[in-house]
Amino acid sequence: MTELQNDRLVELFTTLCSINSPPRQERAVVEYVKGFLRGLGLEVREDNAAEVVAGDANNLVATLTANITGAPKIFFSAHFDTVEPNPNLKIIIQDGVIKTDGSTILGADDKAGMSAILEAIRIIVENNLPHGQIQLIFTVCEEIGLKGARALDLSLVDSDFGFVYDTGPPVGTVITQTPNHDRLMVHLLGKPAHAGVEPEKGINAIQIAAHAISQMKLGRIDAETTANIGVIHGGQATNIVCPEVFLEAEARSLDRAKLDAQVGHMIHLFEHAAHLYGGEAIIEIERHYEGYTLTEQDVPVQVVRRALKRLGLDAPMRPTGGGSDANVFIARGLPCCVVGTAHQKIHTHEEFVLIEDLAKSVDLTLAIIKEVTEMR
Ligand code: ZN
Ligand code: CA
Repeated sequence: MTELQNDRLVELFTTLCSINSPPRQERAVVEYVKGFLRGLGLEVREDNAAEVVAGDANNLVATLTANITGAPKIFFSAHFDTVEPNPNLKIIIQDGVIKTDGSTILGADDKAGMSAILEAIRIIVENNLPHGQIQLIFTVCEEIGLKGARALDLSLVDSDFGFVYDTGPPVGTVITQTPNHDRLMVHLLGKPAHAGVEPEKGINAIQIAAHAISQMKLGRIDAETTANIGVIHGGQATNIVCPEVFLEAEARSLDRAKLDAQVGHMIHLFEHAAHLYGGEAIIEIERHYEGYTLTEQDVPVQVVRRALKRLGLDAPMRPTGGGSDANVFIARGLPCCVVGTAHQKIHTHEEFVLIEDLAKSVDLTLAIIKEVTEMR
């Protein structure tokens, strides 16, 4: 890319970052992107996700009509929301790096992905480059449990397969595997009693929790499986035998049977300990997202690999421990793969991008579009 185009890309990226958009408050950035895409002549539609996620903005599905026939219909996807707010964002651009002053996140997750997609579409339209139908699926509330993608109105989507721009460099990295993920909400019930006067009449829920957790396999279970207790609270005063403890835990595994075994193990220990002390364990399990496995046989993966080759680039194919909208899309029957873009050190105030990676993401997007036109 020329330097001039890089300037324009950096401006687009920093503009997107400058529009504060924590989950459920994406309205302003959605409006900006709508204007951008309508200005390029795309058909832009919204679904009714705001109502479902209790936010102020909907998912956006924009369509660029094909100017050639016979190519597969594809989509590119990114999410509007950032993991936390960044009002008063101060962007520092230095030596090819874009970062903040350290007091907030940048929001490059996922505005790096989004700006690469938008810039590529702008280049396609301005130069009237050949392309099949391209949809852009931009979601809200990704960071709080892929809620926007779950709420997405699939009747707006007409694509054969797609690409979700939501992981870090090297640009073009393909995520091949993500775990199944369960969340556990555990209520341990004991019985209150005065701790000094008649403690024998009480059942201490903290003791139930301690007993269970002391025997629980947590952390890394095996190469494919992890488990964690992340939240515990309960108790009011030292003179009360604690009647109630609340815990939040999770387990993840690439292998569904291993996940079931780990979750079963955790449930068993909580129930066993509750029984032992005469208390009760009430456990709610929430399947947080569905895992997937992709190989080089899957079409979106093939396309990314060929596009990389076309550019003379290489990037790894690797599993990850986290989820993205792709988990929901695949589970809902929309084939896609997660593609590495520019954002680094995400979810921290040290978040940054290399301008070079932003530009590479645009080039990769253009190369993907080109590969798809050749699939006629
Ligand atoms: Zn993200
Ligand atoms: Ca994220």
